[in-house]
Amino acid sequence: MMNVLLLNASYEPLQIIDTLRAVNLLFAGKADLIECVSGREIRSASARHPLPSVLRLRYYVNVPRRGAAWSRRGVLLRDHYTCQYCGKQLNGHDATIDHVIPQWKCRRDGIRPHTWGNTVASCPRCQQRKGGRSMHEAGMKFYDPNFEPKTPRTNYLVLSSRMRPEWRQYIRL
Ligand SMILES: [Zn+2]
Repeated sequence: MMNVLLLNASYEPLQIIDTLRAVNLLFAGKADLIECVSGREIRSASARHPLPSVLRLRYYVNVPRRGAAWSRRGVLLRDHYTCQYCGKQLNGHDATIDHVIPQWKCRRDGIRPHTWGNTVASCPRCQQRKGGRSMHEAGMKFYDPNFEPKTPRTNYLVLSSRMRPEWRQYIRL
């Protein structure tokens, strides 16, 4: 089994790719290695590399999909009015929306900032801490490791292959 889970820059699962494509993405600098298969290596003539299991793209891919139209309130409802960074319960007026990839970067790179995959409920304190950085740059993680910002009630990733244990934290089934 030589399959690799490819994540969007927002940590949203995108698709399952084969190892060759994964290695090409890594060597082209288009993706970062997030998880590897323990104890397994790929050998090239000059070096050994860990066998990739989960990759994350360095750029955000906008995936058009059918589903609920994005709304600020929809994001808060999806996230149960809970800050996705610290787990704090939010009330009506301290509930804000954080852009996983900051809006200025979205504007610069021509990507839509207001998508389900790029927005999460956040408390003002975590927003401030994150600043204009991406979640990754700010060293922040979702408080629930199983959480992924996604379009409500849409099934977008068809798992046709067996799932590796280290994928579980990125996929909610
Ligand atoms: Zn918070």
